[in-house]
Amino acid sequence: ETQKETLGFQTEVKQLLQLMIHSLYSNKEIFLRELISNASDAGEKLRFEALSNADLYENDGDLKVFVEFDEAAKTVSIADNGIGMSRQDVIDHLGTIAKSGTASFLSNLTGDQAKDSQMIGQFGVGFYSAFIVADQVDVFTRRAGLDASEGVHWSSTGEGEFSIEPVDLPQRGTKIVLKLKEGEEEFANGFRLRTLVRKYSDHIAIPVLMEKEEAPSEDEESKDENKAPEFESVNTATALWSRSKSEITDEEYKEFYKHVSHDFADPLSWAHNQVEGNMEYTSLLYLPERAPFDLWNRDAPKGLKLYIQRVFIMDQADEFLPLYLRFIKGVVDSKNLSLNVSREILQKDPNVDKLRSALTKRALDMLAKLAKNDAEKYQSFWKEFGQVLKEGPAEDQANREKVLKLLRFASTHNDNAEQTVGLDDYVARMKEGQEKIYYVVADSYNAAKSSPHLEIFRKKGIEVLLLSERIDEWMMSQLFDFEGKSFQDVSKGELNLGETETEEEKKQQEEVAKQMEGLTERLKTAFAERVNEVRVTHRLTESPACLVVGDYDMGAQMRKIMEAAGQ
Ligand code: ADP
Ligand code: MG
Repeated sequence: ETQKETLGFQTEVKQLLQLMIHSLYSNKEIFLRELISNASDAGEKLRFEALSNADLYENDGDLKVFVEFDEAAKTVSIADNGIGMSRQDVIDHLGTIAKSGTASFLSNLTGDQAKDSQMIGQFGVGFYSAFIVADQVDVFTRRAGLDASEGVHWSSTGEGEFSIEPVDLPQRGTKIVLKLKEGEEEFANGFRLRTLVRKYSDHIAIPVLMEKEEAPSEDEESKDENKAPEFESVNTATALWSRSKSEITDEEYKEFYKHVSHDFADPLSWAHNQVEGNMEYTSLLYLPERAPFDLWNRDAPKGLKLYIQRVFIMDQADEFLPLYLRFIKGVVDSKNLSLNVSREILQKDPNVDKLRSALTKRALDMLAKLAKNDAEKYQSFWKEFGQVLKEGPAEDQANREKVLKLLRFASTHNDNAEQTVGLDDYVARMKEGQEKIYYVVADSYNAAKSSPHLEIFRKKGIEVLLLSERIDEWMMSQLFDFEGKSFQDVSKGELNLGETETEEEKKQQEEVAKQMEGLTERLKTAFAERVNEVRVTHRLTESPACLVVGDYDMGAQMRKIMEAAGQ
């Protein structure tokens, strides 16, 4: 039999522990939420695994979480009869951080408490938050289905290493015992703990039990010391999304978000839909306030939590939303999928496609509603996730117009770098006779706004969208029109400002062109190798000449990207 071993935490864990204790101190009570959240996840995982192997229940299918305390010993414990952990699970999960990009994330922390606490929140605090209030944490755990002798006792003071030793645990699941730090004794108190469970964990679908507080009795003698303690549920213990919308408070929605997203901040917005009929499902979709630190990492977790008839099936089910909506968090609970679904089956089930298009609409509607009702919040969403949404028009033909309406641009109308102009705004301001939506793409906002191509537009008072993000040229190359109005790059091809030009102007232009014929011919010969054509332009009012690319040629920015990529 293996004996007690001492192992070191992964460097990232050590760093995270230090930073967390320091920066989350003013939010220390969230440790309870995190540990109950894990206990609930463990129960749901067991329920899922038991679908195909009922033996895992070991004749105890009533999933519960217990919160207990000992005032004299200054301990608080959280216990569950969920899936539990094997020795290897413990080493993997309570000694390392599996998230990719962790090292660079940590190196970006500033040491400024307010800033860092927000960043750590986005990262997800989890189990290690126990060390905010405890100077020793003991975990007793045994994985469902393993022998009682395969229990594990993990112990650490949060200072760089942990010990691990075998222990006999007849009861499967996990018990976490916190030895409170000096000054944190307030948590070893029934009233305080109850209040916290109700505040943070009411939405947990598994009952959270605490010992009944006895009414103080007059007669100390009548107290029966041997009476088994009685427990009562402190939370509502029903899946939040299955409750009626009118009964759920904003606070409950927000806490539930933190549970499903592992985020620390409130969500920006949410949409809860309970749909009956052919396709029966409930969805609760959330829009995070901030982009996660790994938004641009291809392997970053994304997708919804999938439930089938309230039974948790999997995390990160990314089949239910398109990639350009990967920032949406939440749950989907379906009645049309079979309980023994797997990722492979999901990919083939036609119900999944139906759900995906329904949920995509829900998410887009949520965004449209936010844009309509709260421009300020929408702007903050756009700053965080706008570049992801820009992948949408190309990825999702079916919802192209909807996504287009959600895009925001800088424009000559506002003359500042803020991306606040929607295509609806643009179209509403179009000049009489203007047929196209004009835009320019450059490396930076400043380059875009001082493009010589804009001169004629400024003169005529025609608005031009100013694009300068990396994705912009590619995005625009995928777009043809918006509400029947085609997009026109002002630096490409011949500009036909159409009806905005008077007969007088056109006549004048033709005359000028004739007069200049000699010059344009000479220039054409001189630059024969380098240009396709030389013509008199009316697009400039101040600069003497400019280069224009053909309508179907690659734009200047795209050309740079391709060159950079060695093509
Ligand atoms: P997260 O919940 O975001 O995965 P945590 O730091 O909260 O991160 O937990 C890390 C991992 O430790 C969990 O993913 C799970 O595998 C394991 N774990 C923590 N608490 C429990 C528990 N009560 N029962 C079983 N596994 C647990
Ligand atoms: Mg957790």
